[in-house]
Amino acid sequence: MSKLKKYKMFINGEWVDSENKKTFKSLNPENNEPWAEAPEASEKDVDKAVKSAQKAFEGKWPNLFPRERAKYLKAIAEQLRENAELLGKIETIDTGKLFKETKTQANYIAEYYDYYAGLADKVEGTVLPIDKNNMQVITTRVPIGVVAAIIPWNSQMLLTAVKLAPALAMGNTVVIKSSELAPATLFEFGKLIEKTGIPKGVVNIISGFGEPCGKALTSHNLVERVAFTGGPETARHIIKNSAENLSQVSLELGGKSPVAVFEDADQENALNGITAGIFGASGQSCIAGSRLYIQNSIYENFLEKIVSKAKKIKLGSPMEKDTQMGPLNSLKQLEIIEKNIKLTLDQGGKLKCGGKRHSMSNKGYYFPPTVIECNNHNLPTAENELFGPVLSVMKFKTEKEVVEKMNDNQYGLSSGIYTKDINRGLRVSSAIRAGITFVNTYRLISPSAPFGGMKDSGYGKEAGIESIKDYTRIKTTWFNTSDKPMDDPFTMG
Ligand code: NAD
Repeated sequence: MSKLKKYKMFINGEWVDSENKKTFKSLNPENNEPWAEAPEASEKDVDKAVKSAQKAFEGKWPNLFPRERAKYLKAIAEQLRENAELLGKIETIDTGKLFKETKTQANYIAEYYDYYAGLADKVEGTVLPIDKNNMQVITTRVPIGVVAAIIPWNSQMLLTAVKLAPALAMGNTVVIKSSELAPATLFEFGKLIEKTGIPKGVVNIISGFGEPCGKALTSHNLVERVAFTGGPETARHIIKNSAENLSQVSLELGGKSPVAVFEDADQENALNGITAGIFGASGQSCIAGSRLYIQNSIYENFLEKIVSKAKKIKLGSPMEKDTQMGPLNSLKQLEIIEKNIKLTLDQGGKLKCGGKRHSMSNKGYYFPPTVIECNNHNLPTAENELFGPVLSVMKFKTEKEVVEKMNDNQYGLSSGIYTKDINRGLRVSSAIRAGITFVNTYRLISPSAPFGGMKDSGYGKEAGIESIKDYTRIKTTWFNTSDKPMDDPFTMG
């Protein structure tokens, strides 16, 4: 076994161990071996991180000119571009995601910091047309305070950026909690943050488990805003925790995103979009297009094309250039997938390809692209979020029927439609209860495109102009412009 890489937490501008020296190990999903060690934050460590953020919030940070704060965001962007290769490598070892994706993402994520740097001085207040004599009333947008950012193991640089960048732009201070399944990338990111010279305590990065670390952070009395990305069960805990500190919460949760292919679709384009949607990142994406509805007239033929494409996907080391699918992130995830597949096949699902651990799973967590024909979409693989490369395929006859089916699931994060008929594209996309609809494409992100769900996929949007306001509160200020004393103080005017 190679030597463990040892990390420390970033609190108040210093690199520290947990107060009780407890640590946990991160496994490399490619070979199931521990490769890094991270501090396991206790309640005391969380308290220290939050107090450091609170102190920074009481300091000069929220009062800097917005363009001054923007300079730090731009510096973070520069650091990301310069270190994309290193960040990508660490994220790949820690998560099993393909290096070509993690490296590209780390570089692209710089755009999010630039985007919010540009917005920092564009959030304006108002002068109200008030119904009182001799009064001027204004509203301003003020920062909220200490923000807790809870990050899942996947797409960490992106899911950090959409919280951290608007929060900092608006003058908040932040405590980021990394995932216990893959803590390393955020520590490397912390080193880049440190290089920007941002004032101490403005950004703090801690590591640990849901309990005690996540719980202590999201219920801490000095935390005013919680930005969470993760699964719906954890989200329920987060909401309960927020009953302790009455913090404002945003939730980006999972999905079981439906995709419809109509008979007039450009099939080659649809095949690529479907492949990106469910086999990209080995299906470990919250927007994975995991429920596929194919119109009757093209069903058999199109299904065969998908199966044939899925069978050709190359599994391998996530560091290799020609690998198309790497390992899954954890054994737990692999077992959930296996269980759901077994139940689905027991209930009449037909396995078209994949379905069993890949031979490379002797060491890592490899699972092949899997396609299952389902005679109804309430079968387990068609209904539950699996976070893996499993596509459940169903037939449909009419547009009305497919819209009903697409909407018949607890989640509402993403969705896809393939058709050359633009009217139909518009009709169906507006009828789908999902935060995102891709028409004739899939799996794209941008700093200017709001991202987030409906139904059990959560609330609050990340990215885009509007989300910056979620890191502010409106403050109303009344100015009396009269030189006369106030009227009767015992009546409310
Ligand atoms: P998870 O919910 O298990 O964990 C997410 C984070 O919550 C981790 O940092 C964890 O330590 C923390 N946590 C756990 N219990 C907590 C508690 N009681 N209090 C506070 N924090 C707690 O999710 P995961 O397995 O890391 O990620 C996969 C899930 O995330 C999937 O459901 C996926 O769909 C979702 N996800 C959603 C999006 C999105 O933007 N909608 C993006 C990526 C992932």
